[in-house]
Amino acid sequence: MRKPMIAGNWKMHKIISESVALSEKIKNTLEKNVHVDVVVCPVFTALNSVYSVLEDTDIGLGAQNLYWEKEGAFTGEISPIMLKDSGCEYVIIGHSERRKYFSETDEMVNKKIKAALEIGLTPIVCVGETLEEREAAKETAVINAQLEGAFNNIDINDMGNVIIAYEPVWAIGTGKTATPQQAQQIHQFIRQWLTDNKDNEVSAAIRILYGGSVKPENIKELMDNEDIDGALVGGASLKAETFAQIVKNAKEVI
Ligand code: PEP
Repeated sequence: MRKPMIAGNWKMHKIISESVALSEKIKNTLEKNVHVDVVVCPVFTALNSVYSVLEDTDIGLGAQNLYWEKEGAFTGEISPIMLKDSGCEYVIIGHSERRKYFSETDEMVNKKIKAALEIGLTPIVCVGETLEEREAAKETAVINAQLEGAFNNIDINDMGNVIIAYEPVWAIGTGKTATPQQAQQIHQFIRQWLTDNKDNEVSAAIRILYGGSVKPENIKELMDNEDIDGALVGGASLKAETFAQIVKNAKEVI
């Protein structure tokens, strides 16, 4: 059985003191939850301070991006080892905002996944179609291409350490959630892709999260579907009570 996961993507929100306060509040609000993995992904500057708050808890720490080189003349970038050094276990890779605003390609996503896996960080790899692509009925073709690019030449043995997040771009930060049926259909497509291109074992083990305007009110009906193993949450992860309620509601589905 796949252990559900709720991960919070704080995006470019909160200075260090605010991140510490939020993580303390999350820590104090969450019940002990052995059945749901909980992860928070603050901005780079707050990672280590949040780590100090969470290190004695089960709540995991993730970054929102990395660069694939170990070190060197890459001004403004951050390496996998630096994230590890800050206390990270996870890293979001290929978020649609990075693809859109920073021109990240599937090839770059692939390099980032390899670099994360090499150092022992668990990548949360985002895929998803735009509204135009969905309206043109191209969503599965787009996701197929993103999966092929992202997981090109990634060993089956490493795939067990990967998490995938399906995030339809039209549902991110818009308040517009995919229906549970729409989400399940793509999650099933992704799982089938894993069976066809990796193997059955990998396909059955990988957690596929849904992302796009998840809130306490819709997490249950999303997670009621066989292939939806949790959520990557943006806006609703910025308030401890709301985030904790999503985790609580996710737990009730198990
Ligand atoms: C995200 O940023 O990954 C996301 C899903 O955002 P939101 O929940 O705000 O739609």
